[in-house]
Amino acid sequence: MEGGRDVNQETALQLMDYGRVLMKRVAGGEKTDDPTWVKAYLDLLNPNRPAAPPTEPLQVIFTLVNVQGQTVAPAYLRPVPLDLSAEQGASDWVLMPADRPTATAADRTTLYRSFAQEGGKAGQDFTRFFYLMRKYASTLPNDYGEPGVSLFEQWKIVAALVVISGDLAWPPEKLGLVGGDIPGIQRTINLVTSKGAAKAMRGRSAFIQLLGHALVERLLDELGLGSANVVYDAGGNFVLLTNWDGTLKQRVRDVANQVNRVLLVGTGEGQERFDGFHGDLAVALDTVELPLDALRADLPPVTLPNGDQASRWQLAEKKVKDAVAAAKARPFGDLALESEQGWHDLFDLEPAETDDFCAVCRRQRRRDEKFVPLDPDAPVDVAIRSNLQCPECAGFGELARSLGHRGARLLLSDEPPEKLSAWQRGLHAVTGRWYRIGEADEKGAVTLALNLAGFPAPGVDGFRLLARTTPMTGRTITPNEVLADASRGGLKRLGVLRMDVDNLGNLLVHGLPQRTPMQTAELSQALEWFFAGWLGRICDRVDEGRGLFYVLFAGGDDLFVIGPWDRMPELAWAIREEFRCYTADHAMIHLSAGIAVVGEKAPMVTAVEQSHEALEDAKKLNRNTPREKNAITFLGRSYHWKEFGQVQAMQQGLVRLVKEQDLPGALLTTLLAIERRYRRDWEHDAKAQDAERKRGAWGAYTTSDGRSVQVYYGPWMWRQAYALARLKDSYRDARQGLEQLEAALLDGRIADLGLAARWAQWLTRKER
Ligand SMILES: [Zn+2]
Repeated sequence: MEGGRDVNQETALQLMDYGRVLMKRVAGGEKTDDPTWVKAYLDLLNPNRPAAPPTEPLQVIFTLVNVQGQTVAPAYLRPVPLDLSAEQGASDWVLMPADRPTATAADRTTLYRSFAQEGGKAGQDFTRFFYLMRKYASTLPNDYGEPGVSLFEQWKIVAALVVISGDLAWPPEKLGLVGGDIPGIQRTINLVTSKGAAKAMRGRSAFIQLLGHALVERLLDELGLGSANVVYDAGGNFVLLTNWDGTLKQRVRDVANQVNRVLLVGTGEGQERFDGFHGDLAVALDTVELPLDALRADLPPVTLPNGDQASRWQLAEKKVKDAVAAAKARPFGDLALESEQGWHDLFDLEPAETDDFCAVCRRQRRRDEKFVPLDPDAPVDVAIRSNLQCPECAGFGELARSLGHRGARLLLSDEPPEKLSAWQRGLHAVTGRWYRIGEADEKGAVTLALNLAGFPAPGVDGFRLLARTTPMTGRTITPNEVLADASRGGLKRLGVLRMDVDNLGNLLVHGLPQRTPMQTAELSQALEWFFAGWLGRICDRVDEGRGLFYVLFAGGDDLFVIGPWDRMPELAWAIREEFRCYTADHAMIHLSAGIAVVGEKAPMVTAVEQSHEALEDAKKLNRNTPREKNAITFLGRSYHWKEFGQVQAMQQGLVRLVKEQDLPGALLTTLLAIERRYRRDWEHDAKAQDAERKRGAWGAYTTSDGRSVQVYYGPWMWRQAYALARLKDSYRDARQGLEQLEAALLDGRIADLGLAARWAQWLTRKER
């Protein structure tokens, strides 16, 4: 049973009954009593619980965040099933924050009826019931009185504690945490050359996500726990709640060693052999004891010796994270120490170099191995002579392709699939289960929908969100060349977008001073719904359903998307706008983005590195000031979002001048020259000590909207005025557009020309 392995059916039924009682009371509006055993468990969360059921809606967790006194007004969730649909008659996602009257007025009984109809009322299958609760109770408030925590998380933590104790009558007296992390994602993705292209990267990142799932499943099996014991699991970074005894550390260490051996040296024989990652990927696990009062929602934070405040949960969580970080620093250390074989595995030499290697991962072929031809859609790259790929890379490509199909499901089975891929062999070695990506009507021993709409449905046990927006042409993945070719205008390039939440660690550490495991779970879930769920809808909207975006990875708090270069700023902007709404416009919760523009044949490694550097640059903007980060880097220039919007408007004005009013494209070249001159002189003057040698000077200027700003005047001003005046005479229809441009430049925005004119130039380049 996936939901609760070591719980007997009698206990499972009691837990389901408790879930029904909660739903009936909070959603159905009926008067119900808790089963008598529950009191002792709820006392662990909050002994001073409110007497009446909650009438307030569930407060959005982001609106509880308080960083250095920066807060927002509370916002709330409507009582709806977890879903990616839009509110009736609006384009708003139903999970977007609502004001209090809207969320309060919404009827909870509709939600209750759906829950009951889908089997919430009479169903006996604990796994399915677990996901029904997740689906229908995640937007309802709890009734033990903790802000920002859903009814689902309340039921989940009680279920987790029951699973730990194994006996309803006796809540656990000792608790432990297992922390886990899969490092090296970046590195593994980087092992892909141009011939593997996007598909190879996608396959690897999907594998790593599935490996995270497999590792959690393995630990739950090993420790006799259920899904309720997963406090959170965000992009390969997870925490499990378990009991604490003298054997826990060793048991968890044994799992880490077994899994790391598989990742280091591989497993299986022949064509479906999983060859491992040769030291480039390892998991890190460790454990700490969790004091019982770390669950308490009603205790004030602890004041630390340095004056900082932290909750009891935060202290324990930090301890387990530190332990995991230490384990990460010596990924194969434990393995080597474990046995003679460990040392052997670690220092086993790679086979001698031959001309014969995999075009994707560049691994040498062993004498007994059969490599398969590359896909016909792999880009031609003269630098790489091989046209063969290893079975493992072929398998990763297959995984990427099957994820791209609509309605795909994750199937877990005890029987091996007919045609076995290397990645399946690898995951089997980790969990003892066979993983498969199935079509919409296929079933496994456990069948999980990979999106929110796929559950509840007949034959589906639950769901697990996996971002899998894939550009498909029939049943194959659209190659990078075709994506690049879909760029509007003459310049055909691939855009690579990376985004992540700024200062997430800081938000978690300092933003919620009374943070409990329940609030932590809520925060992690909220981010997951956005990055692994809503992101797909944003992609569909921005490319108008034309399938131009390829999400190579999204989860936790970051994302990685490729597509036609000209669409990427639009996509980044839309994601940022949606995220801003989703987090109720909290000034301290924001994203940064980096966009790289590369040729469609550029090695993926280069694209990855450039987008990574662009994101780093965005994060360096106004570093160590209150305005740091919250920015985007595009074509080598970094801007805060609001200013980026202005630059984009300037770019659009320039494009109009060139395209609609037939101004010569040379205008853009002239503007770029002016900006270059401005930048050079400004930099020169900033260094020049001697006032005599300065080329320009600051002066006051009254802007179009009446503000007085300091503008840096210099020779470029004359060049600019001259260039624009001449155009105004020759192109009378364009007069208005040119005057707007002139006003913007006089308003001190010459520097924006660098990006705006370059961007416009690329967009208006003629098709060759
Ligand atoms: Zn390979």
